[in-house]
Amino acid sequence: MVSRVIPVEPFDLVIFGGTGDLARRKILPGLFRRFCAGQMPPEARIIGAARADMDGAAYREMVAGAMEEFGGGFTCEDKTLRAFLDRLDYLAIDARGDKGWAELQEKMKGKDRIEAYYFSVSPALFGDLAERLQKWGMADKDARIVVEKPFGRDLDTAKKLNGTLAAYFNEDQIYRIDHYLGKETVQNLMAVRFGNMLFEPLWNAQYVDHIQITVAETVGVGGRGEYYDKSGAMRDMVQNHLMQLLCLIAMEPPARFDPDAVRDEKLKVIRALDPVEPHHIVRGQYQAVPMDEADHPGYRTAVGDARSRTESFMALKVHLSNWRWAGTPFYLRTGKRMSARSSEITVVFKDTPHSIFGEEAGRHRNVLSIRLQPNEGITLGVTIKEPGPGGMRLIDVPLDMTFAEALAGEAGEQVDAYERLIMDVIRGNQTLFMRGDEVEAAWTWTDPIIQGWEARNDVPKPYDSGSDGPTDSDELLRREGRAWRGVAP
Ligand code: NAP
Repeated sequence: MVSRVIPVEPFDLVIFGGTGDLARRKILPGLFRRFCAGQMPPEARIIGAARADMDGAAYREMVAGAMEEFGGGFTCEDKTLRAFLDRLDYLAIDARGDKGWAELQEKMKGKDRIEAYYFSVSPALFGDLAERLQKWGMADKDARIVVEKPFGRDLDTAKKLNGTLAAYFNEDQIYRIDHYLGKETVQNLMAVRFGNMLFEPLWNAQYVDHIQITVAETVGVGGRGEYYDKSGAMRDMVQNHLMQLLCLIAMEPPARFDPDAVRDEKLKVIRALDPVEPHHIVRGQYQAVPMDEADHPGYRTAVGDARSRTESFMALKVHLSNWRWAGTPFYLRTGKRMSARSSEITVVFKDTPHSIFGEEAGRHRNVLSIRLQPNEGITLGVTIKEPGPGGMRLIDVPLDMTFAEALAGEAGEQVDAYERLIMDVIRGNQTLFMRGDEVEAAWTWTDPIIQGWEARNDVPKPYDSGSDGPTDSDELLRREGRAWRGVAP
């Protein structure tokens, strides 16, 4: 199967923070892959910007190194890499000063092409960048800005940030990235739901027992300890990534697959979320396991605060008050230093109303698993007769579609979320980006949960590194006769 790669229109992309970790690990390797795929027109220009003084040649050398380090084994002919590097330039610019802005203005002047500005810097600089882009005449109505997470740390800060950006740019110029939305399977979630007759009639409280969303990481906080300790799993993962997944799984079919129709439906999901009761919240903090402490320190050691109360694990039972989902629990779970790296959405259907095979046939439920990582794909558990002459014994077998296997060739190639989203920015398609009101609605739901545990002086429960979180997380489901689906791949 060969996919069609349609080149985007000529563009200039300025990456503020072009020397930073995100630019080197994700943005630039992603752009290179699109270049190799033939999606980037020859006129496209990428301009890295940061305070460090260096010339274009030194920047290109740095980027070539990043391709080697973070390309993930991706190879492309040397001459293609050189051709890509030729698209790159660098300017020393201070977001908080005047340095470099006149030069950038000169570079961007009079070109009839798409202009995009990627704010891959601390959110504290977003306002400074937006203000200077306007001051130097680059915030015209066709310009686009891309902003990274975190988008605020509560409703108040998110509103202020939205207000600051809105002072210089219209909403249709602002691309708030949540890279989870760029994952192939996440988009497939919409294709599966709204492109098939099979699932949608069953996609409601009448037929679905419950839904689980798990995003498990094996890594700890690593070098991000200082940042992470001020944030925690609720702000870092639940408020954005898990809520976006919840929206896509729970939303009504939009009338059209266009940005505002999709985002209107997602917003309705967030607004239908009930407040979460304290006994439906489990917070955890990983601890080192004996013999492994030197290699994998516990959370408090890693962040350098022996009294830290920040959670590295969250599990929540969540309800939506709407016609479709009333009474169906959604269980959300995310954590660091867990047993396996796994992101999965699991839809557990209800029992058949009556078993004609009698009690000895056991309880069998259809389970639809949507794997985001690793091995992106979809599995539907179906109940069949166990083969052989042993009578009518039932077993569950998977109908499995692993995308990498099912879609051989170029179409099956795993495109990284970032490269897909950057191309969407250039195409001017905001469907997979969060709108300002969505972000604010997400914080409106999240804030009271955080304030609640702060008021209760809640201390996260310790869990062993390499486990699946505190036992309270298992108990959250067990007391209702349910269990987490394992995170092991
Ligand atoms: P980083 O490694 O600390 O890089 C920051 C970049 O900003 C550097 O290029 C730095 O270069 C530049 N910078 C700092 N102050 C500046 C100023 N006053 N004017 C112009 N440039 C300035 O950070 P990062 O990890 O790449 O993260 C960037 C953004 O992406 C943050 O908002 C972060 O939350 C978000 N994000 C990162 C990741 C990730 O995996 N890294 C994931 C999700 C979201 P100079 O010091 O030379 O100026």
